[in-house]
Amino acid sequence: MATTITDACINCGACEPECPNEAISQGSDIYVIDGARCTECVGFNAKEACQAVCPVECCVPDPNHPDTERALLDKALALHPDDADLAAAAASGAFPSRFHA
Ligand code: SF4
Ligand code: SF4
Repeated sequence: MATTITDACINCGACEPECPNEAISQGSDIYVIDGARCTECVGFNAKEACQAVCPVECCVPDPNHPDTERALLDKALALHPDDADLAAAAASGAFPSRFHA
């Protein structure tokens, strides 16, 4: 599932540059995640990078966007069609993923 940001967000901005998919932006009240671009960091990090840096730990799984690891990996591949390292990692199965923990 995609990650979402709760209203506990204090607008520090720490998460935005950490996202490998440019899924995070400043919303009208708090920072927001574009569920169409969030891969839960599958393909790039072993855990969600936004949650790792968030001082109030408000980047949480969104139950409204359930996804399998394969669907998240396919989303990452579609977002980064020219990323040869990602393509190779995906083909070998040796890609970073929170599902591997
Ligand atoms: Fe970006 Fe990863 Fe956070 Fe999703 S979980 S918004 S891909 S940093
Ligand atoms: Fe909000 Fe956490 Fe992102 Fe800071 S790191 S902007 S508190 S979601």
